[in-house]
Amino acid sequence: MKERSADIAIVGAGTSGTYLAWRLAQAGFDCLVLEREPLEELGTHIGPFHMEEEAFARFGIPLPGEDILLHRLETITMWSPDQSRSVTAPLTTLDMDKPRFMRRLHGYAADAGAELLERTEFRGVVYEKGFPTGVRAAGPEGELDIHCRLIVDASGIGGAVRTSVPATPWFESDTIADLDTLIVYMESWGELQGEVGADINSYLHFQGWYAPSYGDELIVGVGMPASPEGARKRQQAFAATLPFTAKAVSSTSGRVPYRRPPFSLVDNGLMVVGDAAFMNKPFNGEGVTSAFTACAIAAEVAADALAGDDLTREALWPYNVRYFRDQGAKFAFLTAAMPAVVSLSPPEVDFLFSVPGIFTAEGTRALNLDYELKSDPAASLQALPALLKGMASGRLQLGSVANIVKMAATAATMKKMYERYPEHPVGFGAWVERVKPLWRKADRARHDYFERLLREWA
Ligand SMILES: Cc1cc2nc3c(=O)[nH]c(=O)nc-3n(C[C@H](O)[C@H](O)[C@H](O)COP(=O)(O)OP(=O)(O)OC[C@H]3O[C@@H](n4cnc5c(N)ncnc54)[C@H](O)[C@@H]3O)c2cc1C
Repeated sequence: MKERSADIAIVGAGTSGTYLAWRLAQAGFDCLVLEREPLEELGTHIGPFHMEEEAFARFGIPLPGEDILLHRLETITMWSPDQSRSVTAPLTTLDMDKPRFMRRLHGYAADAGAELLERTEFRGVVYEKGFPTGVRAAGPEGELDIHCRLIVDASGIGGAVRTSVPATPWFESDTIADLDTLIVYMESWGELQGEVGADINSYLHFQGWYAPSYGDELIVGVGMPASPEGARKRQQAFAATLPFTAKAVSSTSGRVPYRRPPFSLVDNGLMVVGDAAFMNKPFNGEGVTSAFTACAIAAEVAADALAGDDLTREALWPYNVRYFRDQGAKFAFLTAAMPAVVSLSPPEVDFLFSVPGIFTAEGTRALNLDYELKSDPAASLQALPALLKGMASGRLQLGSVANIVKMAATAATMKKMYERYPEHPVGFGAWVERVKPLWRKADRARHDYFERLLREWA
């Protein structure tokens, strides 16, 4: 068996693991990144992908060159289900080729000194006296024993490291359930005929969207819980509503997590980031920039812990605190509140689009950039008579409104609790016991909605 040593072993060279390795290598630490697949194949199953332009400056990533950039998109348009109304918000998004973006990111990490071992699969964590001291892997040259001070799980939705270690009161090791995943199914369309909207077009009712892709092609996609076959059917039903026709050139699909993150992202000598920690945006399933936010925090906390030679859960805990009190709290709110909104019937959503102040350009932008449901109190007050009239006329069901109010209250309580995430592992057990019942309510509502979709489409 070959032996290696490093300060940090990161499992997974996707966007999360590579970005974290880049940051930690820049801080002067030895990083080994283990990647099961050939590096050149990463991103090929996705093809085109989106990131907000402003994220590049925020995360210190150079803007993509012509070789990576497919389109610079200036707006996002949200459509009512009957497509008679829409709201367009300014939002600069870069549409890029993911395989090339990945290669660029791998280059940045390698230039900073990180070593990426491709075709190398994580096999297990090695412990000494109950503390992780390394990982075992298998690569092209056989078995590999890597001695390290910190192990990071960046292995995507499967959470290879997290699910391989024994659960502790601080670290959940359960695998993700089907009902906590969304299948993203996308088709590339060519030979377009008819009226195609500009930039990104989003359809709440189908969790569907379309946007420019390679050359003159469009990507037309949907999100659908658990069922690949259901996702395909739902995409076809969505496609049939669009005001243009085209020829499907190719298709792709993949899974993204849709559930709360583990209550803690650290334990002794361990951290988890990205899809492995279920930190995708709850309103569209995207996970690249939301994971960069976590990785930026994780890199700073890990650097301090490594410098102080203290890799205990206490030393790594600030990653939990900083992540959950900010982005984690916002995502908790949205994860709990979204099912009540998306399970409104299409006529109800059509009605809400007709009420000024409900779906707005500012709100759409704020949701995408700040992950907040911002409402202008004056506009909300102005909308009240129309909403009451809608309820009186049956265009908005009382039950739907009651459900939204109930779930928004649960979501708001949850957000407040995450904003007070325990400063130290000592208060963690009590905090988990208080937040768990809220998640039970939110999960039940989401699973009910997902099961309804499965009955409809799968
Ligand atoms: C069809 C589709 C389209 C999407 N479009 C967008 C988009 O436009 N914008 C956006 O922000 N997000 C998008 N997402 C979500 C985004 O792709 C993920 O959130 C993101 O890739 C997560 O990055 P990650 O590094 O955490 O995980 P991953 O990208 O899954 O990377 C994990 C890596 O770990 C490796 N690995 C796994 N197990 C092991 C092991 N045992 N040993 C060694 N290596 C291992 C895997 O091979 C993989 O390379 C999309 C997802 C899908 C499915």
